[in-house]
Amino acid sequence: MPGRVLIVDDVATNRLLLKNRLSNAYYDVIEAADGLETLDKARSMEPDIILLDVMMPGIDGFETCRRLKSDLRTLHIPVVMLTALDKLDDRVEGLEAGADDFLSKPFEDLALMSRVASLTRTKMLVDELSLRGQSASAPADQTMIDIARAKTFEGSSVLIVSQDAGAVGLLGEQLRQALKCKTEIATSVDDAQALIEFLGFDAVIIGETLDTGDPLRFGSMVRARPETRQAATLLMLENNDLDLATRALELGFSDYIACPVDTVELIARMRSMLRRKHYADQLRHRMRLTMVEAVTDPLTGTYNRRYASNHLDRLIERARLNQTDLAVMMLDIDRFKRINDTFGHAIGDLVLQEFVSRLASNVREMDLVSRMGGEEFMVIMPEIESGLVAEIAERVRAATEAPEFHVDTTDETLPVTVSIGYAVLQAEEGPEGLIDRADQALYKSKNEGRNRVTLANAA
Ligand code: GH3
Ligand code: MG
Ligand code: MG
Repeated sequence: MPGRVLIVDDVATNRLLLKNRLSNAYYDVIEAADGLETLDKARSMEPDIILLDVMMPGIDGFETCRRLKSDLRTLHIPVVMLTALDKLDDRVEGLEAGADDFLSKPFEDLALMSRVASLTRTKMLVDELSLRGQSASAPADQTMIDIARAKTFEGSSVLIVSQDAGAVGLLGEQLRQALKCKTEIATSVDDAQALIEFLGFDAVIIGETLDTGDPLRFGSMVRARPETRQAATLLMLENNDLDLATRALELGFSDYIACPVDTVELIARMRSMLRRKHYADQLRHRMRLTMVEAVTDPLTGTYNRRYASNHLDRLIERARLNQTDLAVMMLDIDRFKRINDTFGHAIGDLVLQEFVSRLASNVREMDLVSRMGGEEFMVIMPEIESGLVAEIAERVRAATEAPEFHVDTTDETLPVTVSIGYAVLQAEEGPEGLIDRADQALYKSKNEGRNRVTLANAA
């Protein structure tokens, strides 16, 4: 599904022209005839891209764009301004208003279709990331607005790669002044690769005439490298080969610019590219937070019960496949209620954290520690010799008992002990059976006086 396009023009025949072209390419087309209708439909109909005429009665295209880009509900939708060919000022003002791109009337078919396709792709990626990042306790939404409207990029760095050292040196200087970003120049692909490896970049400007003669291959390399995977890429058309530009956009370049480069246009385009880059970075960051939040216990930082249960299923499968032993250890702090009652809940929390720290440093790196609830923990131990489990369990028990816990700023210490039960996976046994046996062993440790380790009975 190519996506939904909102076409905005006050002249019906102009809309019809675009609509026919885009419908033929299977886009779902909706229309608006003025700015207010645009704002309304952008909110209610979730277009993937907006093609926005500049000259309209009422609020014009620039103002419409500014409003779209100041509203959390719409600022992620790419906006392409439709301008007359000779009006460079319009383009710049459009990009300043937050537009992501512009197209000149009359539309060149290739430029129209490739830019719509590339921006729609970006938008769908952004949607996917927002969806995944939705429940994160992440930065306030004002952050997203600030990113979408940023004018300078102090922390960002831009690499310019071109054989024309003199010309790009000047461009670099101008970008640095206008955007407050860092810039680096490379005159060969080898130099560029070395810089990328050492520095990484938020954006890479690639000249058409590289020493290797293949800017598209270089662009693909940039996107394949971990340091620049998410970087924006701009093709600088030194020979004005428009077919090359179209192919570049199809291959995933973010944008292109014609030569001789108009500095104001370049700055505006870079600004728009860097905004989109940082916006997507922020969404990725939120998504990672959400994923981490979904699987961890906030108090102790261990995995939570749900994650551990799911993971145990997979680890059991793998143990069967590789014919290795797998063990599960259940741990429960002794008389924890008494600790809470005596020292208070806050100290109880600190005891839990200190306990987890001792636990984690006495099991193996590959063992998976999780909090099953309250003061009860589970450790899954894959690829382990069954003899070693008893040793590790005893080590954890001893490390809990001594030295006494010191969780306060005072000199006071408090005694903490833990009871442990463990079981080694048997043939045909499922996760429930394994956990159940370890639980019963833990119960036995409790019954026999606590502060001890018990091996589970065979099933
Ligand atoms: P036993 O030796 O039999 O395990 O006795 P116990 O007191 O440790 O066990 P019990 O299950 O009776 O009490 C557990 C207590 O842990 C009760 C509950 O209030 C407390 N608790 C559960 N979660 C937390 C927490 O996140 N923080 C703190 N401070 N206390 C918690
Ligand atoms: Mg307990
Ligand atoms: Mg308990």
